[in-house]
Amino acid sequence: MRDFVSTINENTEIVVYKKHFRFDNMLKLLIVLFILIILLGIFTFKVDTSKKVLSVGDVHPQGIKATIYGLDCSNWLKADKDVDSSKPGVYFINYKFKLFPGFRTYTQEIDVLDNVPPVLQLAGEKEVHLQRFKDYAEPGYTCIDNYDGDITDRVDVKATKINDDYYEISYEVRDSSGNNVSLLRMVYIDVPIPEEEQTRIYLTFDDGPSSNVTPQILDILDANGVKATFFICGYGDDKVEIVRRVLASGHTLGVHGYTHDYKKLYASVDSLVNNFIELAQRIVDTTSYNPKFIRFPGGASNTISRKYSRGVVTQGAQRMHEMGYEYFDWNVDSDDAGRAKDADTIFNNVTTHIKEKQANVVLMHDSAGHQATADALDRIIKYCQENRYVLLPIDENTPVVQHTIAN
Ligand SMILES: [Zn+2]
Repeated sequence: MRDFVSTINENTEIVVYKKHFRFDNMLKLLIVLFILIILLGIFTFKVDTSKKVLSVGDVHPQGIKATIYGLDCSNWLKADKDVDSSKPGVYFINYKFKLFPGFRTYTQEIDVLDNVPPVLQLAGEKEVHLQRFKDYAEPGYTCIDNYDGDITDRVDVKATKINDDYYEISYEVRDSSGNNVSLLRMVYIDVPIPEEEQTRIYLTFDDGPSSNVTPQILDILDANGVKATFFICGYGDDKVEIVRRVLASGHTLGVHGYTHDYKKLYASVDSLVNNFIELAQRIVDTTSYNPKFIRFPGGASNTISRKYSRGVVTQGAQRMHEMGYEYFDWNVDSDDAGRAKDADTIFNNVTTHIKEKQANVVLMHDSAGHQATADALDRIIKYCQENRYVLLPIDENTPVVQHTIAN
């Protein structure tokens, strides 16, 4: 075996030489290939550093997009800080290689913009109808911004007169990022309705004054700037102040009669007339006011008086007329002295019986048991005002509303 090895020694060297030659070439080739891969890798390595725009509150996606040979290698890079996308601003984020932090830095600009305008809201109606000569009361507004928060106090309010009958109120606000929002409220000055077109409402209250209901009625009338008419009964010294307040508030004071007892007051023409005159005198004595209007207890059309004296209303009306008094009945009955026991029913009875473009004399009561009437009054007034009805106290110009005398 040794001999054989020694005999082929020369040939063996040749083989080894050939093997060395091939291995060196392969190594070089691999090195070249490796360099090529590295070089190609550097050429195909891409980092998307293009500017990113976010809205305030948007979630900023972590990391930056990087590829090599088209394959994702975003996780090779690490950001030096995060974006606070709750605050508008320009952020520059630096990305470095996790393995070779000193090798290279990629910088990306992130713009966080507040491009959401504030939310401006008007309280009340966008279209306001204002009576001529009445002051405008601003119903209010609120403004909330997604970034600045409540900026109601930054709202700029301007009133512009377009013409005698029309104004515009503008509301404008800009948030700290310059986003603008504006709204408009239209204010129409109502042209007075011609008299023949007016729906006139004469609210009348019978059987008072009472110490509980009458002051409430007066408060509600005052609060709404409405004048009405009170047909009162006999009152004691404790109620004088209430009667004076009725007059001081500008309401009309009418005479219903000293007593409301049908049997007594309709006993004769004299007792009927005296029942009016004695109360009229008491009013003069306690207030210096001369009443001019009367209302028959039960109305001029009552038939109950027939039980006590025939023709008493006919003759009583005539005698009162001769003394300068006019009597008033009603053409809208709230029925608050009848079946209407709650505010809703009283409201419905009044509002459904009003006739447009004419004088409506509304019968209500302010004696002690009529809390429901006081409860309904504000709504009745508001309904009338919304419908542009004219609320007035009875005076010499009021068309006479009288029932047909039945006795
Ligand atoms: Zn009465």
